[in-house]
Amino acid sequence: MPPLLRAEKITVSFGGRRALDGVSLTAEAGRVTGLIGPNGAGKSTLFDVVCGLRRPRTGRIRLDGRDITREGPARRARRGMSRTFQHLELFGRLSVRDNLLVAAELGSGRRHAARTADAVLARLGLTGVADDAADALPTGLARLVEVGRALVLGPRVLLLDEPAAGQDAKETERFAALLRSLADEGTAVLLVEHDMSLVMSVCDEVHVLNLGSVVASGPPARVQTDESVLAAYLGE
Ligand code: ADP
Ligand code: MG
Repeated sequence: MPPLLRAEKITVSFGGRRALDGVSLTAEAGRVTGLIGPNGAGKSTLFDVVCGLRRPRTGRIRLDGRDITREGPARRARRGMSRTFQHLELFGRLSVRDNLLVAAELGSGRRHAARTADAVLARLGLTGVADDAADALPTGLARLVEVGRALVLGPRVLLLDEPAAGQDAKETERFAALLRSLADEGTAVLLVEHDMSLVMSVCDEVHVLNLGSVVASGPPARVQTDESVLAAYLGE
């Protein structure tokens, strides 16, 4: 069986500069796959390519082996891909619940949306702030709302761009448990994150990106001690 998600030799340039230079990686159903690397490595750009917000210059994105490189983001979302953004994209003046409802209605129509939104709010521990305006929340909770908006679509592939930034230790611990349970349900989770203890504790496999190239891939314990990884971070 092909991996659920596969990026093949992805190249993206901005002006004359290569942001991604032949990146290949996979994310499997039922696993948390980490994507780490210093700032500017190309992690968010790869997410844009995977979810259809940016066309690569060369390379392919495959879902279940099917080439979806030419499909737009809405089509990919219907196929079961959802993402969060490093820079939060919440509707600040809407309530937490309405932020989820707007997203849920795209996926399941009005009738089921309320039930879906409420189930996800409960799962994320956000029921108590459901009626608060999104822009009144501390960052840690706002990150969870962003995750909730992705979860209401019931994704098979979930792309998370620095979801734990701004979370405190307790929130991060709870978040790690959430990621494990999503993977246990069969979701392919692709996690971009700077919190190394989260990455190392929750990921089944880690890919390290530096200057637009994958410099190491493997189980977290091995990647952590890889010399090219240490060099990438020291060179930041
Ligand atoms: P990361 O998420 O790993 O920090 P990014 O994917 O945001 O890295 O950026 C990778 C490189 O591409 C950086 O050099 C960044 O400056 C550049 N870049 C990202 N987005 C754009 C853009 N819209 N226009 C021009 N350059 C960009
Ligand atoms: Mg980024």
